[in-house]
Amino acid sequence: MLNRLADYHMHTVRCGHAVGTMEEYVETAIARGLAEIGFSEHVPMYWLPEEQRDPTGAMSMGEMEAYVSDVLRLRERYPEIPIRLGIEADFIPGHEEALVRLLEPYPWDYVIGSVHFLGDWNFDHPDLVHRYAEWDIGELYDRFFALERMAAESGLFDILAHIDLIKKFGHRPDKDLSQAYAALADAIAGAGAAIELSTAGLRKPVGEPYPAPALLKACCDRGVPLVISSDAHAPGEVGWGFEQARDLALRTGFTHTVRFEGRRRRPEPLA
Ligand SMILES: [Zn+2]
Ligand SMILES: [Zn+2]
Repeated sequence: MLNRLADYHMHTVRCGHAVGTMEEYVETAIARGLAEIGFSEHVPMYWLPEEQRDPTGAMSMGEMEAYVSDVLRLRERYPEIPIRLGIEADFIPGHEEALVRLLEPYPWDYVIGSVHFLGDWNFDHPDLVHRYAEWDIGELYDRFFALERMAAESGLFDILAHIDLIKKFGHRPDKDLSQAYAALADAIAGAGAAIELSTAGLRKPVGEPYPAPALLKACCDRGVPLVISSDAHAPGEVGWGFEQARDLALRTGFTHTVRFEGRRRRPEPLA
Protein backbone atom coordinates (compact mmCIF):
# COMPACT_ATOMS: atom_id res chain seq x y z
CA MET A 1 0.00 0.00 0.00
CA LEU A 2 1.18 3.45 -0.86
CA ASN A 3 0.27 4.96 2.50
CA ARG A 4 1.29 8.57 3.09
CA LEU A 5 2.08 9.14 -0.58
CA ALA A 6 0.33 11.55 -2.92
CA ASP A 7 0.35 11.50 -6.72
CA TYR A 8 -0.02 15.02 -8.06
CA HIS A 9 0.80 14.37 -11.70
CA MET A 10 -2.10 12.76 -13.53
CA HIS A 11 -3.52 13.58 -16.95
CA THR A 12 -6.95 13.12 -18.55
CA VAL A 13 -8.25 12.42 -22.05
CA ARG A 14 -8.55 16.17 -22.60
CA CYS A 15 -4.84 16.42 -23.50
CA GLY A 16 -5.37 14.17 -26.50
CA HIS A 17 -2.68 11.61 -25.57
CA ALA A 18 -3.99 10.02 -22.36
CA VAL A 19 -6.60 7.30 -21.86
CA GLY A 20 -9.24 6.37 -19.30
CA THR A 21 -11.94 8.24 -17.44
CA MET A 22 -11.07 10.56 -14.58
CA GLU A 23 -13.08 8.27 -12.30
CA GLU A 24 -10.76 5.38 -13.23
CA TYR A 25 -7.72 7.43 -12.16
CA VAL A 26 -9.35 8.23 -8.84
CA GLU A 27 -10.50 4.66 -8.23
CA THR A 28 -7.04 3.29 -9.04
CA ALA A 29 -5.54 5.73 -6.54
CA ILE A 30 -7.97 4.59 -3.85
CA ALA A 31 -7.37 0.90 -4.62
CA ARG A 32 -3.58 1.40 -4.39
CA GLY A 33 -3.88 3.17 -1.06
CA LEU A 34 -2.64 6.62 -2.06
CA ALA A 35 -3.31 9.23 0.60
CA GLU A 36 -4.05 12.06 -1.81
CA ILE A 37 -4.07 12.83 -5.53
CA GLY A 38 -4.23 15.74 -7.90
CA PHE A 39 -4.94 16.15 -11.59
CA SER A 40 -2.46 18.21 -13.61
CA GLU A 41 -3.61 18.41 -17.21
CA HIS A 42 -1.38 19.98 -19.86
CA VAL A 43 -2.11 23.68 -20.07
CA PRO A 44 -3.46 24.92 -23.45
CA MET A 45 -0.64 25.93 -25.80
CA TYR A 46 -1.02 29.58 -24.84
CA TRP A 47 2.20 30.69 -26.53
CA LEU A 48 1.10 29.58 -30.01
CA PRO A 49 -1.50 31.03 -32.36
CA GLU A 50 -4.69 28.98 -32.16
CA GLU A 51 -4.23 27.23 -35.52
CA GLN A 52 -0.78 25.94 -34.49
CA ARG A 53 -1.92 24.32 -31.24
CA ASP A 54 -1.60 20.54 -31.40
CA PRO A 55 -4.85 18.92 -30.20
CA THR A 56 -2.86 15.79 -29.27
CA GLY A 57 -0.48 17.79 -27.08
CA ALA A 58 -2.70 19.62 -24.60
CA MET A 59 -6.29 20.54 -23.80
CA SER A 60 -7.74 23.45 -25.74
CA MET A 61 -8.53 26.89 -24.29
CA GLY A 62 -12.22 26.03 -24.47
CA GLU A 63 -11.73 23.00 -22.22
CA MET A 64 -10.08 24.77 -19.26
CA GLU A 65 -13.37 25.62 -17.60
CA ALA A 66 -14.76 22.09 -17.96
CA TYR A 67 -11.48 20.53 -16.77
CA VAL A 68 -11.56 22.58 -13.59
CA SER A 69 -15.21 21.81 -12.91
CA ASP A 70 -14.62 18.08 -13.55
CA VAL A 71 -11.94 18.02 -10.86
CA LEU A 72 -14.11 19.96 -8.43
CA ARG A 73 -17.02 17.61 -9.13
CA LEU A 74 -14.85 14.52 -8.46
CA ARG A 75 -13.84 16.07 -5.16
CA GLU A 76 -17.51 15.93 -4.12
CA ARG A 77 -18.02 12.43 -5.48
CA TYR A 78 -15.00 10.84 -3.71
CA PRO A 79 -14.83 12.24 -0.18
CA GLU A 80 -12.61 9.29 0.81
CA ILE A 81 -9.55 10.78 -0.90
CA PRO A 82 -8.47 14.44 -1.15
CA ILE A 83 -8.41 15.44 -4.83
CA ARG A 84 -6.35 18.53 -5.63
CA LEU A 85 -6.68 20.83 -8.60
CA GLY A 86 -3.41 21.23 -10.45
CA ILE A 87 -2.15 21.98 -13.91
CA GLU A 88 1.05 21.22 -15.81
CA ALA A 89 2.20 24.42 -17.47
CA ASP A 90 4.91 24.68 -20.11
CA PHE A 91 7.57 27.26 -19.38
CA ILE A 92 8.11 29.31 -22.54
CA PRO A 93 10.47 32.26 -22.03
CA GLY A 94 8.93 35.55 -23.10
CA HIS A 95 5.36 34.31 -22.52
CA GLU A 96 5.26 34.45 -18.72
CA GLU A 97 2.57 37.12 -18.55
CA ALA A 98 0.24 35.21 -20.84
CA LEU A 99 0.57 32.19 -18.56
CA VAL A 100 -0.18 34.22 -15.45
CA ARG A 101 -3.30 35.66 -17.10
CA LEU A 102 -4.46 32.24 -18.25
CA LEU A 103 -4.12 30.66 -14.80
CA GLU A 104 -5.42 33.59 -12.79
CA PRO A 105 -9.17 32.80 -12.76
CA TYR A 106 -8.94 29.30 -11.25
CA PRO A 107 -8.49 27.94 -7.69
CA TRP A 108 -5.30 25.88 -8.23
CA ASP A 109 -3.84 23.87 -5.40
CA TYR A 110 -0.52 23.80 -7.27
CA VAL A 111 1.02 24.64 -10.64
CA ILE A 112 3.60 22.26 -12.11
CA GLY A 113 6.20 23.80 -14.40
CA SER A 114 7.63 21.83 -17.31
CA VAL A 115 10.13 22.33 -20.08
CA HIS A 116 8.97 20.27 -23.09
CA PHE A 117 10.03 22.67 -25.86
CA LEU A 118 13.34 24.01 -27.13
CA GLY A 119 12.23 26.66 -29.57
CA ASP A 120 9.55 24.99 -31.68
CA TRP A 121 10.87 21.48 -30.99
CA ASN A 122 8.79 19.35 -28.62
CA PHE A 123 11.85 17.28 -27.74
CA ASP A 124 9.98 14.71 -25.66
CA HIS A 125 7.59 13.78 -28.49
CA PRO A 126 8.37 10.27 -29.76
CA ASP A 127 7.70 11.31 -33.39
CA LEU A 128 10.38 14.01 -33.20
CA VAL A 129 13.26 11.95 -31.79
CA HIS A 130 15.11 12.19 -35.11
CA ARG A 131 15.85 15.84 -34.33
CA TYR A 132 18.33 14.85 -31.60
CA ALA A 133 20.67 14.03 -34.49
CA GLU A 134 20.82 17.75 -35.36
CA TRP A 135 22.47 18.52 -32.03
CA ASP A 136 25.70 18.14 -30.18
CA ILE A 137 24.24 16.40 -27.12
CA GLY A 138 26.42 18.32 -24.65
CA GLU A 139 25.21 21.61 -26.11
CA LEU A 140 21.63 20.35 -26.08
CA TYR A 141 21.90 19.55 -22.37
CA ASP A 142 23.31 23.03 -21.72
CA ARG A 143 20.34 24.60 -23.51
CA PHE A 144 17.86 22.43 -21.67
CA PHE A 145 19.32 23.09 -18.21
CA ALA A 146 19.48 26.84 -18.92
CA LEU A 147 15.74 26.77 -19.65
CA GLU A 148 15.01 24.64 -16.61
CA ARG A 149 16.90 27.17 -14.43
CA MET A 150 14.87 29.99 -15.98
CA ALA A 151 11.66 28.08 -15.27
CA ALA A 152 12.66 27.79 -11.60
CA GLU A 153 13.73 31.42 -11.37
CA SER A 154 10.48 32.63 -12.96
CA GLY A 155 8.74 31.91 -9.66
CA LEU A 156 5.66 30.81 -11.60
CA PHE A 157 5.68 27.21 -10.41
CA ASP A 158 5.10 25.36 -7.15
CA ILE A 159 6.61 22.12 -8.46
CA LEU A 160 9.08 21.51 -11.27
CA ALA A 161 8.37 18.33 -13.22
CA HIS A 162 10.93 15.90 -14.63
CA ILE A 163 13.86 18.33 -14.33
CA ASP A 164 16.17 16.30 -16.58
CA LEU A 165 13.59 15.30 -19.20
CA ILE A 166 16.17 15.83 -21.98
CA LYS A 167 17.54 12.34 -21.20
CA LYS A 168 14.16 10.70 -22.02
CA PHE A 169 15.28 8.75 -25.10
CA GLY A 170 18.67 7.83 -23.66
CA HIS A 171 20.82 10.55 -25.28
CA ARG A 172 23.70 11.20 -22.88
CA PRO A 173 26.46 13.79 -23.22
CA ASP A 174 30.02 12.56 -22.78
CA LYS A 175 30.77 15.25 -20.23
CA ASP A 176 30.41 15.58 -16.49
CA LEU A 177 27.06 17.11 -15.50
CA SER A 178 27.83 17.93 -11.88
CA GLN A 179 28.20 21.68 -12.57
CA ALA A 180 24.91 21.79 -14.44
CA TYR A 181 23.22 19.84 -11.65
CA ALA A 182 24.61 22.16 -8.95
CA ALA A 183 23.52 25.28 -10.85
CA LEU A 184 20.01 23.91 -11.38
CA ALA A 185 19.66 22.78 -7.77
CA ASP A 186 20.84 26.24 -6.62
CA ALA A 187 18.24 27.93 -8.83
CA ILE A 188 15.42 25.69 -7.57
CA ALA A 189 16.42 26.13 -3.93
CA GLY A 190 16.71 29.89 -4.43
CA ALA A 191 13.24 30.05 -6.00
CA GLY A 192 11.68 27.98 -3.21
CA ALA A 193 10.07 25.50 -5.62
CA ALA A 194 9.60 21.77 -5.05
CA ILE A 195 10.70 19.08 -7.48
CA GLU A 196 9.20 15.82 -8.62
CA LEU A 197 10.79 12.47 -8.28
CA SER A 198 9.01 11.11 -11.34
CA THR A 199 8.62 7.41 -12.02
CA ALA A 200 7.71 8.19 -15.66
CA GLY A 201 11.38 7.91 -16.66
CA LEU A 202 11.32 4.25 -15.63
CA ARG A 203 8.71 3.62 -18.32
CA LYS A 204 10.72 5.45 -21.01
CA PRO A 205 13.81 4.43 -23.04
CA VAL A 206 16.16 6.05 -20.51
CA GLY A 207 14.95 3.57 -17.86
CA GLU A 208 15.61 5.69 -14.76
CA PRO A 209 13.48 8.12 -12.78
CA TYR A 210 13.65 11.88 -13.29
CA PRO A 211 15.86 13.33 -11.97
CA ALA A 212 19.08 11.30 -12.10
CA PRO A 213 20.38 10.19 -8.66
CA ALA A 214 23.13 12.86 -8.59
CA LEU A 215 20.69 15.66 -9.43
CA LEU A 216 18.20 14.35 -6.89
CA LYS A 217 20.99 14.40 -4.30
CA ALA A 218 22.04 17.94 -5.25
CA CYS A 219 18.44 19.08 -4.63
CA CYS A 220 18.21 17.14 -1.36
CA ASP A 221 21.47 18.69 -0.11
CA ARG A 222 19.97 22.15 -0.65
CA GLY A 223 16.71 21.38 1.16
CA VAL A 224 14.53 21.39 -1.96
CA PRO A 225 11.07 19.95 -1.13
CA LEU A 226 10.02 16.76 -2.92
CA VAL A 227 6.90 15.20 -4.36
CA ILE A 228 6.73 11.72 -5.86
CA SER A 229 4.81 11.66 -9.14
CA SER A 230 3.79 9.19 -11.82
CA ASP A 231 2.93 11.54 -14.71
CA ALA A 232 0.09 9.09 -15.36
CA HIS A 233 -1.42 9.12 -18.83
CA ALA A 234 -3.45 5.96 -18.11
CA PRO A 235 -5.27 4.81 -14.96
CA GLY A 236 -2.84 1.91 -14.47
CA GLU A 237 0.03 4.37 -14.14
CA VAL A 238 -1.38 6.12 -11.06
CA GLY A 239 1.06 5.59 -8.19
CA TRP A 240 3.17 3.42 -10.47
CA GLY A 241 6.68 2.63 -9.14
CA PHE A 242 6.06 4.59 -5.94
CA GLU A 243 7.54 2.04 -3.51
CA GLN A 244 10.77 2.09 -5.48
CA ALA A 245 10.68 5.91 -5.62
CA ARG A 246 10.09 6.16 -1.87
CA ASP A 247 13.09 3.89 -1.24
CA LEU A 248 15.23 6.04 -3.54
CA ALA A 249 14.09 9.25 -1.85
CA LEU A 250 14.86 7.84 1.62
CA ARG A 251 18.26 6.54 0.50
CA THR A 252 19.06 9.95 -0.99
CA GLY A 253 18.36 11.62 2.36
CA PHE A 254 14.84 12.97 2.02
CA THR A 255 12.70 12.52 5.13
CA HIS A 256 9.50 14.18 3.86
CA THR A 257 7.47 14.88 0.79
CA VAL A 258 5.20 17.90 0.55
CA ARG A 259 1.44 18.30 0.12
CA PHE A 260 -0.25 21.24 -1.54
CA GLU A 261 -3.50 23.07 -0.99
CA GLY A 262 -4.33 26.53 -2.32
CA ARG A 263 -0.71 26.87 -3.52
CA ARG A 264 0.60 26.50 0.04
CA ARG A 265 2.64 23.48 1.02
CA ARG A 266 3.19 21.47 4.16
CA PRO A 267 5.58 18.60 4.87
CA GLU A 268 4.45 14.99 5.23
CA PRO A 269 6.81 12.27 6.55
CA LEU A 270 7.95 9.87 3.85
CA ALA A 271 7.83 6.80 6.04
ZN1 LIG B 1 1.47 14.33 -21.53
ZN1 LIG C 1 2.74 15.42 -17.35
